[in-house]
Order: sequence, then structure tokens, then C-alpha cells
Amino acid sequence: MAAPALGHYIGGRWTVPPSARSLEVWNPSTGDPIGTVPLGGAAEVDAAVRAAREALPAWRDTPPLERARAVGRLRERLEAGREELARLVARENGKTLKEARGSVRRGIEAAEFAAGAPALLQGSALRNVGRGVDAVEYREPVGVVAGITPFNFPVMIPLWMAPLALVCGNTFVLKPSERVPFSAERIVRLAEESGLPPGVLNLVHGGPEAVEAITDHPHIDAVAFVGSAPVARTVYARSSAAGKRVLALAGAKNHLIVLPDADLAPTVEAVVASAYGQAGERCLAGSVVVAVEPGADRLVFALAERVRGLRVGPADDPATEVGPLIRPEQRQRVAEWVERGRAEGAQVVAVGTVPAAGGGFFHPPVLFDGVRPEMAIAQEEIFGPVLCVVRVGSLAEGIDLANRSRYGNAAAVFTRDGRAAREFAHGIQAGMVGVNVGVPAPLAQFPFVGWKGSVFGSLAATGREALEFYTRTKVVTSRWF
Ligand code: NAD
Repeated sequence: MAAPALGHYIGGRWTVPPSARSLEVWNPSTGDPIGTVPLGGAAEVDAAVRAAREALPAWRDTPPLERARAVGRLRERLEAGREELARLVARENGKTLKEARGSVRRGIEAAEFAAGAPALLQGSALRNVGRGVDAVEYREPVGVVAGITPFNFPVMIPLWMAPLALVCGNTFVLKPSERVPFSAERIVRLAEESGLPPGVLNLVHGGPEAVEAITDHPHIDAVAFVGSAPVARTVYARSSAAGKRVLALAGAKNHLIVLPDADLAPTVEAVVASAYGQAGERCLAGSVVVAVEPGADRLVFALAERVRGLRVGPADDPATEVGPLIRPEQRQRVAEWVERGRAEGAQVVAVGTVPAAGGGFFHPPVLFDGVRPEMAIAQEEIFGPVLCVVRVGSLAEGIDLANRSRYGNAAAVFTRDGRAAREFAHGIQAGMVGVNVGVPAPLAQFPFVGWKGSVFGSLAATGREALEFYTRTKVVTSRWF
């Protein structure tokens, strides 16, 4: 049964504009439509910003502990509804239920961090900076914050943003990906049930038009963005030009360096989970294996066997290891990348199978060997179940190769040698680094952020750095005559 049309949530009211432009939402596992999402534009963004601005003074002046309690109530509701949320994520995104559960757990942890943030909101003080003069530093909210999120983590990424922004005393406008709007709507309903005052958290559905309205809006003070590199670059440039604070997390091309001494079986499992988990639609997906010789042959052989046997299927089948891609266009793009890789001279050494029946947006897992660093498939983000093997002669050569990427989100090394692991961790230019860990996703209290072209802005999406993003400092210097 098709779900009802979704609405925007502005100033504490759900509005479903009857004549608005809308888009169909699909279940990628089946290819069935599951609802429609309204595409908000400048008018809806403006209404949401007005509501957020109106709610700002009272929310900013609400004691931080009360704000934290409100987020704590949201966290409790998220916890109680976590299975339902995971099922929504699996249904509209296509990742497996297991992956969806993990991502919801990570989102709830971000809300947990936010609920404990008042301790971190404390500033600093120094008595007698001059005779009879004291200085106190406060952390204050930035104002109205907008969050623009991607399709691949429909619950986790909105929860990186909204709870922390709110605890810091900001009001918030969420613009989720138009391809996965149901999860965002559910989060906002839970926030509504947890008693957030009207206007403190608003939801505007939409695509590029809504994003442009956000970047240009004169009364939005900060923009948090996560998505692809070209859009991140534009959002960063336009929002900065309009005088806003911006943090834009972008795309990736993550390298997994495998040394000859690596423990083969667990390494293959970790590499396969990194590259093909969530069908490769992860900003932390390993997409280039740098195989250090000697030993590349046995690694490629083991990887190829595993890739051929991967179970590709619908998100709700417990046996599924690799789900569908988000849309047929993404599947087409991945197929074109595979063709391009062949044309560039790389060899396809393994191809998985996809379900014979059904309308899901499946693409078979593909393993390339003989990839050279200058090939486009070794440099560009494919965002699908495609893994490239590049062979090198030494760890130093592997680190150098990875460091030549214009991205620097994540990287990992697989080895039994502590000294080599140390050399890698020290020399690699990436923000999130794994040692025998294929998906080195930091927990909510650590900074989640890449380096180089994987981020526009200077702070992280989680942890203390995110708290800095959502606050600004004020130093009061006082003397009493
Ligand atoms: P996307 O850039 O297509 O969309 C992100 C957001 O921008 C969405 O809300 C979308 O509505 C909006 N948008 C899309 N096209 C736009 C345009 N032309 N103008 C203005 N706004 C536009 O990204 P996606 O496909 O939803 O997500 C996948 C991408 O996100 C990948 O590149 C992935 O690496 C990246 N990502 C990065 C991180 C990270 O932490 N660095 C985390 C998750 C995803």
C-alpha cells in the first residue's frame, strides 16, 4: 500500500501543499513507488526560516539543561522506535536491515552525545586580566541553522546535526534528501512528540531548489551539509558568499592498503564489507585496494572468490549481503564506470550475480585488477559495488599513491606489523584511518571529517568540533567602578 504524501513541518504545523510539485519515492529493493515527497522551494524555506527565527530568542534563553532534557526525550523516543526507523531506512534506502540498524544506532549515539553536551558548553574565565578586570568566555548559539543531508544515511546524518544544534541553543531547518524523506519525517514526528516548542525544529522537503534557497537566504546563519563533492563545493561557496558559517562534508575515494603479511581471511572479509557493504554507497567505502607485493595474487584470488559468491538481494532478506542502488540512474552510472574501467585497460576478474526476478535497482559486485593510479576509475568516486586493485612494490609507494588522491576521507591498512601500521597512520593524509578496520567510522564523541577535497570548511560533523560549529564565542571583559 502506498504511503500518504509527506508534508513540510513549519512552525509546529504539518503542511501538505495540495498543488505543490512533488516527486515519487521508490523502494530500491523492489522498484515500487512508496509515496510522494513535496518539493519545497524558496517560499517553504522562507516560511521555515521565519518560524525558526521567531522561536530563536526563547529557545536560546532556555537553560541549556532544559534544552538537553528535551533532546534526551527525543533520544528516548528514538531508542523506543529504533526498529521502526531501521525498517524505514532499509525500505527507502535499500541498505540491508543489519546495516540500517547499525546506522540508526550511530544516529542515536549522536543524540546521546548532544544530550550530554551542556558540560561541553561551558566557557572559561580568568580573574584579573587587568587590575580589577575579569574576562569570561561564553559559548552562544549561532542562530538559525540549516541542515542539508544525503540519501545514504537517512537517520544518522540528520541526527549528527539537529540534536547538537538544538542543545547549543540554535533553531533548525532540516532539508533531507528527497530520495529518502520518510526517515526524516519520522525523526521530526518523534521530536514533535518529545515536546520541542514550535519553530525550534522545522522540516522542508525538496531538492536543488530548496538548497539554493537555503544557501542564499539572508536569515540563515549557518549551513551544515553532507553530500557529493560538486554540490558541497557550490553550497560552501554560495553560503559563504552570503555570509554564513558553513561546514560541507563531501565525497571520497578511500584506499585500503594490504601488506603481504596481512592475515588473509579476516582481511578479505573486512575489505569486502568495506567495498561492497551498503552496495558501495558509503562515504567510508573502500574503493581502491592497494596490494603491496609480493602477495597481490593470493589476495586478488581470495577477493574474487568472495565477490562471485556475494548474495545480492532485497534489503529485508536476512541473507542479503549487498542491497540495491538508490535509483536506476545510479545503477546506469555504475555500469558506465565499469565500461570505462574496461576501456581504460583494467581487467574485470570477478562479477557477482543479481536476483533474476523483481524490479530492484541491483548492480552486481565487480572486482577490477590491473588498475593503474592514473585511470579515472582509480580516482573518481563511483559510489557503487566496484572495487579496484592497484598493485605496488612497497608500503611507502602505497601511501604515496593514496596521498595523491584529491580526496582524503578515510584510509586503512591491513598488516600484522605494528611498525608498518604506525608508519601508515602517521603518513596517510586522511581524516579517518583504520588499522585492520575497513570502515573506520568515528563514534559520535570523536570528529567525523575527512581531509582535502572531502570537506569544505574547517571543523568536523560530530564531537567537540561540531559543538564549535554550532556555537560562537563571546568574551565579556568587565570592571566595576
Ligand atoms: P548529493 O550531493 O546528490 O545530495 C546531497 C543533498 O544536496 C541532498 O539534500 C540533495 O537534495 C541536494 N542536492 C543534490 N543535487 C543538488 C544540486 N545540484 N544543487 C543543490 N543541491 C543539490 O549527494 P547524495 O547522492 O545524496 O549522497 C552521496 C554523496 O554524499 C557521496 O558523494 C558521498 O561520498 C557523500 N557523503 C559524504 C559523507 C562524508 O562524511 N564526507 C557522508 C555521507 C555521504
